[in-house]
Amino acid sequence: MSAVGVFGGTFDPVHYGHLRSALEVSERFELEDFRLLPAGTPPHRPPTVADAGHRLAMLELGASAYPGFRVDEREIRREGYSYMVDTLAEIRREEGEIPLLLVIGQDAANALDGWHQWRRLFELAHLVVMRRPDSTVSYPATVLEAMKGRYAEQPLQLMETSAGLVHHLEITQLDISSTAIRQMLLAGRSPAFLMPKSVIDYIRRHGLYQG
Ligand code: ATP
Repeated sequence: MSAVGVFGGTFDPVHYGHLRSALEVSERFELEDFRLLPAGTPPHRPPTVADAGHRLAMLELGASAYPGFRVDEREIRREGYSYMVDTLAEIRREEGEIPLLLVIGQDAANALDGWHQWRRLFELAHLVVMRRPDSTVSYPATVLEAMKGRYAEQPLQLMETSAGLVHHLEITQLDISSTAIRQMLLAGRSPAFLMPKSVIDYIRRHGLYQG
């Protein structure tokens, strides 16, 4: 059965921390369809620094290096903020009963109970939690309870059903963040080797993150 990976973020801008983890998840599950999903501009959160069009263009450049990556524009195209449950429900309607893998970092997973209708996430997708060697696991009691009986040790188990399992995956630690890259650019320093050169060229061409 084919499966779809879904990896959301603001990607402001995309960097090798994102792309390397996307690749490791793709390889582990042998995914031929891994969606990088840039978030729209949420009204109740600090605005992104680059606008949606630029974030999308940079992500397209970064994702083009690997054949399995696809940029899914739906959250940017939609008016207003999108919740992950709505996005997953939409992908589920389009793709049918294939395994859907929602890929999130351990930090995000620790705060899962803050997500809109978070319990529904387990009905819509498997959860792949990316762990780094120094990750702190601190699930609140409600999340622990909801995850009970869902743990899958083997990646293959997630290919046998369409949703509802939780898999923890250790990935290579790359200490890179969009925040640090924006600060570097603002200070006139180079983010070379932290992100694709094509993305750096795009940033320069459009004068992004200059303050
Ligand atoms: P910012 O610094 O602006 O908060 P960020 O670099 O954390 O951004 P996001 O776009 O917010 O990037 O992250 C999208 C997803 O990528 C999140 O699930 C996050 O956990 C993950 N991620 C971000 N940086 C890394 C990294 N260095 N290694 C692995 N995953 C990462």
